[in-house]
Amino acid sequence: MSELQEILDRAADGGRISPEEALELYTKAPLHALGRAADAARRRRFGDTAHIATYLIDRNINYTNVCVTACKFCAFYRPPKHEEGWVRDLDDILRRCGEAVELGATQIMLQGGHHPEFGVEYYEQVFSAIKREYPQLTLHSLGASEVEHMAKVSGVSIEEAIRRIKAAGLDSFAGAGAEILVERPRKQIAPLKESGERWLEIMETAHRLGVESTATFMMGTGETNAERIEHMRMIRDVQDRTGGFRAFIPWTYQPENNHLKGRTQASVLEYLRLVAVARLFFDNIAHLQGSWLTVGKEVGQLTLHFGADDLGSVMLEENVVSAAGARHRSNRLELIHLIRKAGRVPAQRDTLYNHLVVHDDPANDPVDDRVVSHFSSTAIERGIAHPELRIVVAEAHSGGA
Ligand code: SF4
Repeated sequence: MSELQEILDRAADGGRISPEEALELYTKAPLHALGRAADAARRRRFGDTAHIATYLIDRNINYTNVCVTACKFCAFYRPPKHEEGWVRDLDDILRRCGEAVELGATQIMLQGGHHPEFGVEYYEQVFSAIKREYPQLTLHSLGASEVEHMAKVSGVSIEEAIRRIKAAGLDSFAGAGAEILVERPRKQIAPLKESGERWLEIMETAHRLGVESTATFMMGTGETNAERIEHMRMIRDVQDRTGGFRAFIPWTYQPENNHLKGRTQASVLEYLRLVAVARLFFDNIAHLQGSWLTVGKEVGQLTLHFGADDLGSVMLEENVVSAAGARHRSNRLELIHLIRKAGRVPAQRDTLYNHLVVHDDPANDPVDDRVVSHFSSTAIERGIAHPELRIVVAEAHSGGA
């Protein structure tokens, strides 16, 4: 038996592989053997429910595009005082939550820039207002970068910031801001962001305080293969201590409208190989999400054969990745069909990955055609937004929310 096959077999059987072995697989294993092993690891992990692949209905709500961190890959932010900067007021945020509830969303992902005036108090106000009006919504929002920023603005510790936003209604952290955690490429694409070590330290603190999260990876901004594996190694080490990462979500950098531009981008094959290696490497993280938004629906569907168990959200609204050129949109029925055509039974899940509706009979598929993902007017000028979800033209930033 070849050395590569031995590593593949061990990982498929749930054994641990080292970062060096993961790199060997990533760079040398035949694609089909890699996919087969990852799929075996997925089936092994999910046992009786391995025939199911999940999706979620959620809405990303961006409260401001004003940001002092100026990441080079980001097409969404505007610096303070820029004429295209805006802040959504609380009524607008609540209206969007109301629409999301009406369309069957279970989760809200609040995401925004690092506004120079937004400290812990701002997030306490927003989270408590949403929970008061819509207690049924799960607030899976923000991430370590926002916590670092709000704690600085308010002059409090990371621990206090997390405790307070949790008390105000935050349920879990999204894994955003991880980008790539390895220092060399991170400094090149996000020189003003906290270090990768710091990002992990904040997540570890959150996990200890009972706030779980996901972990993401934006691949394709100029990192080496070894750095891709190192990013996963850093996350796996923390997970060994906390168990607080529910999912790993790799996605590909989108090169439009930002300062990095298209000088680099991960190919579909690189992405699929990474998904498969992630399933084999993360023996301690249950869920692995395929990103149809950035790689397209067909490749998203393929990830289900490379170890992914989840296709993420319909995304009733998404502006950040779309602003950098992600042109894919979908709807609930289409995601259901994609999953079914991949040979799996689709199920709508909640943030905790509980199955809410298992679509095991096509005759009972949902018919509400309003449950579509859409581009906002901030992402594409005169973009095709669903009429009921059209975003109002952003107001000029007035210095607060
Ligand atoms: S990625 Fe986030 S932190 Fe970086 S510039 Fe964009 S909005 Fe700001």
